Amino acid sequence: MTTALCPQPGIMEIALYQGGASAIAGQSDPLKLSSNENPFGPSPTAVTAVAEAAANLHRYPSTDHAPLRAAIAEVHGLQAERIICGVGSDEVLTLLALAFAGPGDEVLYTEHGFSLYRIFALSAGATPVVAPEADRCVDVDAIIARITEATRLIYIANPANPTGTGLDGEALERLADAVPASCLLVLDGAYAEFFEGYDGGASLVTARDNVVMTRTFSKLYGLGGLRVGWGYASQHVIDVLNRIRGPFNLSKLALAGAEAAVRDRQFVETCLQQNAEQRARLTGGLRQLGVNCDESQANFVLARFADEPEALAAETHLRSKGILVRLVKGYGFPEALRITVGQADDVTRVLEALADFRRAG
Ligand SMILES: *Cc1c(COP(=O)(O)O)cnc(C)c1O
Repeated sequence: MTTALCPQPGIMEIALYQGGASAIAGQSDPLKLSSNENPFGPSPTAVTAVAEAAANLHRYPSTDHAPLRAAIAEVHGLQAERIICGVGSDEVLTLLALAFAGPGDEVLYTEHGFSLYRIFALSAGATPVVAPEADRCVDVDAIIARITEATRLIYIANPANPTGTGLDGEALERLADAVPASCLLVLDGAYAEFFEGYDGGASLVTARDNVVMTRTFSKLYGLGGLRVGWGYASQHVIDVLNRIRGPFNLSKLALAGAEAAVRDRQFVETCLQQNAEQRARLTGGLRQLGVNCDESQANFVLARFADEPEALAAETHLRSKGILVRLVKGYGFPEALRITVGQADDVTRVLEALADFRRAG
């Protein structure tokens, strides 16, 4: 380090987060299937609510987010006082690390886990610990084997990104049973709604003091640009997080848009049904083309090619057809592409482009 200004230990080990590509040179309107966004956009009622809220931008927003928390609690059957809202679920996941982990502590996540978990651990000055997965699935026993007295947080996305695989209730309960009282089990539910029959971990949170669930408006709700997420935990954990949360972390626009979105159940139902249909089509179509994929419980599919050169060639071919997908080498899958489930026409375009790629190859 050439400067006298030295950041906290661990921070220079953080590599900048790489988001999904959003542009193709020479293409004005690419089909973006690289960031697991809702292909139907946001609910029109959310857009209207944001526009209406704009008239009062001279006023500071609420600090306790009471109306949004009440709406979330009502829709999900939860206790409003145990909900915390953040600037995306990212913020809630970060606050958990900052509040509960520090130098000498360990933060545990899995081999193909979301890349931000390592960043959260290092930001807090804690030591990241990685548990292996089994055939692209979170392996509960491997996690349990790596829990030590120093483990403070365990981050698991269920369903997981970028694999799309999910753990059932029994496996989650077995894991929760093995987590000591001094450690938090964080269930990142960014894609929970897409996993049929899964409550995002709400019942585990209700039953235990050391389980936290996070959810987001960025994926199913189509509001990634608004930046709203939330967490559900024991009263003690919520009280701790609120002490370090910025009092005005969510803007008026964000609060208004998210509240309208969570109340628009018709829009949510339509999007979920479309996703299930198109995900099945995409999965089936890929397999027919000889591209392997696991059964996804989310709004994307991990398409596994023969090797890295083939995956890169497929990505280049898709790009030449105006389609952006996600390279996932950084997640330990150099041979794969993560493809967001789009609308019916989008899925058709992807499958046709890949069929074309197969013929050319
Ligand atoms: C997208 C995503 C998130 C959340 O992002 P926010 O926009 O900050 O709510 C969290 N975890 C995983 C695994 C994701 O893919």
